[in-house]
Amino acid sequence: MVRPTIRDMTSELGLSSHARILEVKEPSCGLLAFIALHDVNHGPCVGGVRRSRYRSAEDACNDALSLSAQMTRKVAFAGLPCGGGKSVIVDHKALDRNTAYAAFGRAVEMLDGQYFCGPDVGTGTDALERIREHTSYVNPADNDASVATARGVLAGLRSALSECPSIGPLSAVVQGAGNVGSLVVKGLRTNLHSELALSVSDPNARALRSLPEDVRKIASDVALRTPAHMFIPCALGPVVSRENVRSLPFSVICGSANTQLEDDAVAQVLHARGILYAPDFIVNAGAVIEGATVLFSKGDNVRERAKAAIDRIEYRLSDVFHEARENDASPLNVAVARTIRR
Ligand code: NAD
Repeated sequence: MVRPTIRDMTSELGLSSHARILEVKEPSCGLLAFIALHDVNHGPCVGGVRRSRYRSAEDACNDALSLSAQMTRKVAFAGLPCGGGKSVIVDHKALDRNTAYAAFGRAVEMLDGQYFCGPDVGTGTDALERIREHTSYVNPADNDASVATARGVLAGLRSALSECPSIGPLSAVVQGAGNVGSLVVKGLRTNLHSELALSVSDPNARALRSLPEDVRKIASDVALRTPAHMFIPCALGPVVSRENVRSLPFSVICGSANTQLEDDAVAQVLHARGILYAPDFIVNAGAVIEGATVLFSKGDNVRERAKAAIDRIEYRLSDVFHEARENDASPLNVAVARTIRR
């Protein structure tokens, strides 16, 4: 049985922003992973496992750090009894995924419940099943997490649309038709408007082929330049940069992608331009709300209660929009203020 090595890099990196950053290695299968624990003061850290290619180990480590901080905002805003964590597995040609997931699961088990993992980009139900064979600290909602995430995104879009209705025919551009994006595309017309004009970009031709025929397929490099009422980012962040923010042809930005903005300052420019930005950590919290409800709450009808909690994203976001409008502030500023816990 492979036993990965775990190295605590927190003091080596001089990190004060995070509780811990751990490097996980198992050379026999090519595993290099980072587990970032951002906030350990409000319960165990929860957050997905991302498998992705990176230019360097440093980039991978930084991604785990940034995504875990985002998770803290997500669980704090949702009022969940946990902190933010995140892990990344560095993908490469020689990675033996099956063994790597097993070794990663053992590493999570060795943390003794400080970190609960779930799916993210590059890891779906199958990967989680493999990890689950080696640790019990896995999101207990063992169904496809993207269903819960997409449900939350649709709730967010209902809120954004009622705050900022379209003057002409309703149109949307969806960036990314993977696990979440494809479900959002399928639910948009029933949730928002039956005659919504829909354009979708994804460099993966197979992802586009699975979409309904009347969806317009557009090239990835034109998505941010295609005028539409709503832009729905469901690929990878960051999407809105200091450079492109001044030319985005949308009225609303609301989607599942994590860390959509290059930095928080970009939200101020969106606000000044009159573009309504629905903070990503509110909109894409469906899966963690479901996981935490199953994990931490007692009693019957847990799944139904989780769905109801996800649907409340609509009203919680409307409340943020309302306060932002009253104070002429960006919704991000209002939402971040609501993540501060005593
Ligand atoms: P996924 O890997 O299944 O899908 C991502 C899709 O984006 C892929 O089809 C990929 O080809 C496409 N893509 C990549 N670059 C693109 C580009 N430049 N333009 C257009 N498309 C591009 O991932 P997912 O699980 O659907 O997650 C999507 C986003 O939502 C990620 O940012 C993820 O972190 C976030 N998120 C997901 C969940 C979840 O439950 N899956 C939960 C919270 C947040």
